[in-house]
Amino acid sequence: MSILVVGSVAFDSIETPHGQVERCLGGAATHFALAASFFTQVRVIAVVGEDFSAQHEAVLTARGIDTAGIEHAQGNSFHWRGAYQGNLNEAQTLQTDLNVFASFQPKIPAAYVDSEYLFLANIDPVLQSQVRGQMPKVRMVCGDTMNYWITGHADKLAQVLRGLDTLLINDGEAKLLADQPNLVTAAERILQMGPKTLIIKHGEYGATAFFSERSFAGKLRQRFFRVPALPLAEVVDPTGAGDSFAGGFFGYLSAQPELTLATFQRAMFYGSVMGSFAVERFGTERMQQITRAEIDQRFAFLRELSHLEAD
Ligand code: AMP
Repeated sequence: MSILVVGSVAFDSIETPHGQVERCLGGAATHFALAASFFTQVRVIAVVGEDFSAQHEAVLTARGIDTAGIEHAQGNSFHWRGAYQGNLNEAQTLQTDLNVFASFQPKIPAAYVDSEYLFLANIDPVLQSQVRGQMPKVRMVCGDTMNYWITGHADKLAQVLRGLDTLLINDGEAKLLADQPNLVTAAERILQMGPKTLIIKHGEYGATAFFSERSFAGKLRQRFFRVPALPLAEVVDPTGAGDSFAGGFFGYLSAQPELTLATFQRAMFYGSVMGSFAVERFGTERMQQITRAEIDQRFAFLRELSHLEAD
C-alpha cells in the first residue's frame, strides 16, 4: 500500500508567541508525508528550487519517504510567511511566494501510477486536478485546501471537490467555502459540493467528521463523529498541525484492509495524535524525532480521555 501526495514542499518563516524562525523546512506535502510515513509508504509529487539542499531532502528520505517525484527547478522554492497573534488556532498569512510552483506541471513517475491512495495536499487546485486526472484508478482520494485558494480560485476548487472521498479543512475555511457562519449548515453545503465525507479541524478543540449518505457505501450509522485534541501545556508552533492530522488519519486508514466507520474513527484518533506532536516545536523538528512507541502512548491516552463507560 502506498499514498501518493501532491502539495507544497516549502520554506516557512513563522512568528508565534514562542519566537520566530526564518525559512525552515515546511509545506503541506512535507508535514503530511512525515506524519503518514509512520503508517505506510509515502511518495511525493512537488517541485523545489535551488535553495532546497540534500540535507532538506534527507529529512524526508530518513523517514523512508520516496522523493523521486520531487522535481528540482531553477529559482526558489515556495515560501510562506505567517504569524499567530493571540489565536494559535488561526494563522495569518503575511506573504505567499509561489516561486517554482507558479509554472509547475506535475508529472507522475511510472513507478507511482500503482499508488492506491491519493492525498491532494494544500496547493493550487489546478495542480490538484492535474494529478487527480492522472490517477483514475485510486481507491480513495482525500484533499485539503485553504483560504488563499477558496477566495481566489473557487471554480478550479469546485472541480477538485467533486472528485474527493474526504475533504479535510479547518472551521474558518469551511465557513468561508460554504459562505455560511454555522458549522453544521456549512458542512451540509460542502457535502453537496462533492466530498462523500468531511472532516472539519478545530485546532486545539479537536476535529469533527460529517458523514453523508454516500459515506461507507451508504451503510451509514451516524452523521457525526468527534475526536478531541490532546491537551498540551505548551504549543510552540501550530504550523503543519492540519497536515500532520491528515497524514496520521490517511496514513493509518490506507494501511487497513477495509474502510469502515470503526477504522475511520481510529484514523481520526491517529490524526489527532500526529497533530499534537507537530505543534510542540517549530517546523518539522518534533516530527523528525518521534517514535512509534510515543505515538501508541498518545493514542492510548486520547482513548482514555474520551471514553465513557456504558451504563
Ligand atoms: P497547516 O497544516 O494548515 O498549518 O499548513 C501549513 C503549511 O501550509 C505550511 O508549511 C505552508 O508552507 C503551507 N502553505 C501555506 N500557504 C499555502 C498555500 N497557499 N498553498 C500551499 N501551501 C501553503
